[in-house]
Amino acid sequence: MNVAGILELKGRDVATATPTDSIESIARNLAALKIGAIVVVEADGSVCGIVSERDIVRSIASKGAEALAQPASELMTRAVVTCAEDETNAKLMEKMTAGRFRHLPVVASGKLAGIVSIGDVVKARIAEAEAEAEAMRSYITSA
Ligand code: AMP
Repeated sequence: MNVAGILELKGRDVATATPTDSIESIARNLAALKIGAIVVVEADGSVCGIVSERDIVRSIASKGAEALAQPASELMTRAVVTCAEDETNAKLMEKMTAGRFRHLPVVASGKLAGIVSIGDVVKARIAEAEAEAEAMRSYITSA
């Protein structure tokens, strides 16, 4: 399955923030939406960073409660690795493993077009494995 197939199953909604949004408001959004990361976008819709729950935990551990008053721009990872709709599930696993992160924003024509999490990748891999096993079963029983 490729990224387009994954997005067809899960939808294209992406939770975003602006660079000036506070970490407190981002933490509230992460909790309310039950997600692990938020993509930071400029006014023109281009991706400029990502803030994950890990960034927030690390910052609170070093700065205490004042970490929550910082803007997203202080904390976000700026070198965001993204993916395109024609990339395969295997390629996404490779990128997540190499970068040690669990989220990959999808970019199409320079704009944010979705997000794939490690949970989506695992779900797609299980669906692929089940389809392969089913094809094998029907091949064996029809032989
Ligand atoms: P995660 O595993 O996604 O919670 O993120 C772990 C760390 O990687 C955090 O510092 C994130 O800001 C960063 N991160 C998450 N996703 C990406 C990405 N696609 N590209 C670059 N860094 C990322």
